[in-house]
Amino acid sequence: MALLHFRIPNSFSEKRGGTFALKLLCFTLSVFLFCEFFIYYIVIIQCHWPQLKAQAPRATEKTSNSVLKAMFLSDTHLLGELSGHWLDKLRREWQMERAFQTALWLLQPEIVFILGDIFDEGKWSSSQAWSDDVRRYQKMFRHPASVELIAIVGNHDIGFHYEMTEYKLQRFSEVFNFTSEKLVTRKGINFVMVNSVALEGDGCIICRTAEAKLAELSHQLNCSLQEQSQSRKRCSDVNKLPPTAPILLQHYPLYRRSDAKCTGEDSAPLDKKNYIFKEKYDVVSKEASQKLLWWFHPRLILSGHTHSACEVLHNGKIPEISIPSFSWRNRNNPSFILGSITPTDFSLYKCFLPFENTVLTIYCAAGAVLLVLVLAHFHPLVTPFHFVQRLITKYKAV
Ligand SMILES: [Zn+2]
Repeated sequence: MALLHFRIPNSFSEKRGGTFALKLLCFTLSVFLFCEFFIYYIVIIQCHWPQLKAQAPRATEKTSNSVLKAMFLSDTHLLGELSGHWLDKLRREWQMERAFQTALWLLQPEIVFILGDIFDEGKWSSSQAWSDDVRRYQKMFRHPASVELIAIVGNHDIGFHYEMTEYKLQRFSEVFNFTSEKLVTRKGINFVMVNSVALEGDGCIICRTAEAKLAELSHQLNCSLQEQSQSRKRCSDVNKLPPTAPILLQHYPLYRRSDAKCTGEDSAPLDKKNYIFKEKYDVVSKEASQKLLWWFHPRLILSGHTHSACEVLHNGKIPEISIPSFSWRNRNNPSFILGSITPTDFSLYKCFLPFENTVLTIYCAAGAVLLVLVLAHFHPLVTPFHFVQRLITKYKAV
């Protein structure tokens, strides 16, 4: 009887303890799922494709079909085997994968451009480490066949000019099908992709090849823009392109003195705004920038590299947008750009991703709630409310 007398309360308290543990587990799981999964849907669903100025609010299917839905992001900096803690690597890659996959699912772009520095250590990684980085990249940025993904080369992918080799450029090209200086035409829109690391202007073999290719593309575009009678002789051997000004895509921004004039919540922090940019390192040289503007007369330039946002107007009429980093390792508020583009018009919209601070605050608040619940559970005479009240009173008394 004595045994029975003791067993009944034990099984009762075990059951109560089990239910409590289950509740805590459900609470923890809900917070985790919210912060690591659902938050991306809640934030990205608020983004939308921008309307073109000339596009009527109720555009017909035909007119909306002629608009290219392009997504632009930059500086993903997938960590390699040398830098960064494994937890940092795991977390950043998970965040970028969730953000990218959610954006694909909700926004359904037709084409995605990544503007360089896809990897952090492509500039020095061994072939084994490179293969591992590429495998993880392909998993994170997987996409259906209906979505085209085009990558532009950055200095962390192949090294700054002094570290850049044919071998590194070749292995990047093999994975991304990026032959240096390439023109892609989609829905009558010409995109020129530039290997900005090769614009050193020192006559190195890669630089010479890049410049020659750019001059050739410029000639092809100019011939396409001119009237047939004007260009019959000079352009007789040229494959014509849609006769519209191109959009330039590159990793380094064109020359600007600093980010001092950049505005917006994701522009460079105050202490970095007045840093004077080094040509061929932070930005393309003045000379190469002038050449690109003169060769292509682009209607828009999109670049990365600085990790912060900026809008610059070149020659008073050509806009350049610096796209901030897509990685939470570099920013508290990463973002990407959505572009509605036609051969003659474009409209851009910035889509911010969940703020790191928000996620950390939710985790801290959930941790505090868990602590209070656990402490209150082991002091059954005190309810959570009274427990918090007692804590506050105690704190005030001190
Ligand atoms: Zn860079």
